Amino acid sequence: MGATKPIVLARGFLPDDELWIRVRQAIDDLEFPVVLADQSEELINAASNTGPDAIFLPWHDDTPHNDKIIEALRVLKRDEHLHRVPVFIVADSEVLDDDTVARMITTGAEDCIRKKTAQILIKSRICNAVKTKFYYDFVLKVSREAALRDPLTGLWNHRQFQELLRLELARSKRSATSVALLMMDLDRFKSVNDTYGHVEGDRVLKEAALTMQSSLRAGDILARYGGEEFAAILPGISRENALELSGRIQKALHRVRISSDDHPERYVTLSIGFACSPEDAADVAHFIQFSDMALLQAKRAGRDRVESVRPISFRYLAEEADYVSVAGDWNAWRPEANPLVRNANGSWTGRMLLPTGRVTYKFVVKQASAPPTRKMIWTHDPDNPRKEPDGFGSYNSVLNVTRYQDEILYGEVEKPTVRAART
Ligand code: GH3
Ligand code: MG
Ligand code: MG
Repeated sequence: MGATKPIVLARGFLPDDELWIRVRQAIDDLEFPVVLADQSEELINAASNTGPDAIFLPWHDDTPHNDKIIEALRVLKRDEHLHRVPVFIVADSEVLDDDTVARMITTGAEDCIRKKTAQILIKSRICNAVKTKFYYDFVLKVSREAALRDPLTGLWNHRQFQELLRLELARSKRSATSVALLMMDLDRFKSVNDTYGHVEGDRVLKEAALTMQSSLRAGDILARYGGEEFAAILPGISRENALELSGRIQKALHRVRISSDDHPERYVTLSIGFACSPEDAADVAHFIQFSDMALLQAKRAGRDRVESVRPISFRYLAEEADYVSVAGDWNAWRPEANPLVRNANGSWTGRMLLPTGRVTYKFVVKQASAPPTRKMIWTHDPDNPRKEPDGFGSYNSVLNVTRYQDEILYGEVEKPTVRAART
């Protein structure tokens, strides 16, 4: 059979028993390696460690022994990794009557081998059971793999991407290395479908996937995030190299041609947004959120370009405040998030990633007495005295981030409407 996995035999066979000698002969003829183990815990351990192709348990004219066999069988059949391994009960005497055989089969044994079983049948029954397990394992492996893949491009699908990103982030934290996340979206792809048809659209998606894959390094992970969106996880890469690699992917994409008989040839362009961990984001949700923001920025800035979120520092000039934080947007605000640090002069500074666009952030100020309107500035360099305040904020101010210029973030702070009940 060309098997590489062993067969586990529970100890308890009598070495000179004739049936045992025949079973062992059949296993040897089939060229399975053999592992011997005790009937209880050791058997389960041996089976877990080796992942055997079959397990053989001896049945005797001895109730305490047989009870152990039944218990071992139950444990094996409850184990999520071992329950598919065929278990044979082997009787050294005629005590394995038909009723007992039926009981063993209903408890989970695949087969029972008795004294009267012919040698050729012992061999073929072992062979068949192992073969069935082999096909079952194969189908399971293929269907598990298929469940993780996108059928059109063969890349990891969205669900597997999330899992791989979680694993890579955990790994990068353990090894204190960086990881970058690229969110990539084909530009104006709807018009590709509209002009060249969906068949050509599908072909282009496939070719784009292949082209992206071949631009990446070994160990990088590429997934189809959905539709014409792709995501790449790049372990152990610096921000500069992530930017450079993004540029290379874009260039490679330019070589993907879209064509039809009726329309002139066109090429594909790609917008990329990326974020890096740990400096930009430390968890999966923020990592995706920030690279998505950067992608949106790349689209808004004209497409076919790479953007990353920019870390922004800002200062709050409220000397009386007890606590200042940037609490996220209205729908998911966390007063404890992004607290600003108090400076020696009584002002507050903080640093976070802000995208341009319509994302609103709430500045939360905790103060014993209601303050009048406060002045705020946002700047890349909070200690640069040349920067002037460009906004006003107060309790629950909402900052509408509108644009960046010379690395200064310009925003409008709305007049407070609700008092900070939760601070
Ligand atoms: P933008 O530059 O803003 O990303 O423009 P866009 O047209 O690419 O974006 P939009 O979200 O408007 O359209 C995405 C298009 O991608 C629409 C959809 O038909 C196409 N698309 C998504 N999945 C597939 C697919 O599996 N096959 C084909 N042929 N097209 C797809
Ligand atoms: Mg698109
Ligand atoms: Mg899209």
